[in-house]
Amino acid sequence: MAHRPVVGVDNARGKAYGKATGLYNKHRKYSEQWNPWHPFQSAHDFQQAQSFSQQTKTWIDQHQRRGLDNFKIESFQSADALQKLLSEIDFRLGDDSWIEDHSHIFGTLYYRDIFKCFKFLLAHLPFQAHLDFEPVRLADSESRRIYSEMNTGDWLWDMQDQLPAGATIVPVICASNKTHLTNVSGDQHAWPLYLTIGNIRNDIRLTPKKRAWILIGLIPYPPKGAKNTDDAWHSAVGTVLSPLRKLDITGSGLKSNCADGFQRRCYPLLAAWVGDYPEQVMIAQVSYGSCPMCEIPKGAPMGHSTCRALDNSRDLHVYSELLDETNIDVLHTLHVHPICYQFWQFPLCNVYRLWQPDELHQLLLGLVKDLLHWLVRYLKTRNVKDQLDN
Ligand SMILES: [Zn+2]
Repeated sequence: MAHRPVVGVDNARGKAYGKATGLYNKHRKYSEQWNPWHPFQSAHDFQQAQSFSQQTKTWIDQHQRRGLDNFKIESFQSADALQKLLSEIDFRLGDDSWIEDHSHIFGTLYYRDIFKCFKFLLAHLPFQAHLDFEPVRLADSESRRIYSEMNTGDWLWDMQDQLPAGATIVPVICASNKTHLTNVSGDQHAWPLYLTIGNIRNDIRLTPKKRAWILIGLIPYPPKGAKNTDDAWHSAVGTVLSPLRKLDITGSGLKSNCADGFQRRCYPLLAAWVGDYPEQVMIAQVSYGSCPMCEIPKGAPMGHSTCRALDNSRDLHVYSELLDETNIDVLHTLHVHPICYQFWQFPLCNVYRLWQPDELHQLLLGLVKDLLHWLVRYLKTRNVKDQLDN
């Protein structure tokens, strides 16, 4: 199947504004080509250094003096020199990228400056060949539209129309989940908040080892039986994402170096949220049991296949008007909490479309789990389950 762009590259979208500076050039010390093993000169030196990590200083010095390796290490000759190189390794955003906020009721909120995170991901050299900066329309040989990466969808085109010419959209994807850490040593919990950007292609984004996701916050976990947990969550997440909410989309955007060696004016927009159903209900502020995406009656089957077909999507503008008119009863019948909250205020964000299909929640925990239940029930009623087990 031939993939060809229907609309060609032009400068109105994802435009480059001059050469990137700083970060882009810092690894070019040893050769014209980017050296991914920096500050080591080669993969061999890096691997050797890695194998030395558990050894003492004396052992490393002796090993280097004996020179028993077939391939000599070029980057360092002593334990001290190795130590110096290790201190020069780029530790991503660094420990000092964390900010502490003690103003939250259930404990300290730890978070990172998300604009620094965007800049880091956009300029991360290993992603150089895996970044998209502008929307495209792809089609097969019979002119049928192909949807694959985020920039091949309609959403990016719709957003681009509402931003200044030359803008580069940075689709922001967040993920959060209450996590149970320990049972026997104090019932420890965490509530991490992660972030990645849709400019990074799928295969990289979905490979954990490529580290395209950044931990941007640790939300204070409410104690057992606590009230107002939704409010506390929204207030913590609001603090972390406030630069995104306050971004002026009519302005010049966030100037960022990109890994392809150019600078762009970036407009990070909240595009999707990966989370389970309870988390989605909390984000959408609808009542439990109702659909976060549409106004389908409670109890009816919901999900991306049923909800998309029905033309009754939730609309924050309608809800906002109902709220202004204090039409609380109508909001209640639609299972919407009658409050104006931060997710209504993110630029060009539709909070009711943040929920996207994902493999874990829809396919594995949804479809596959459901099918297995059905299958086991079927086998039991036919008295053949034992036979299958055997
Ligand atoms: Zn629905």
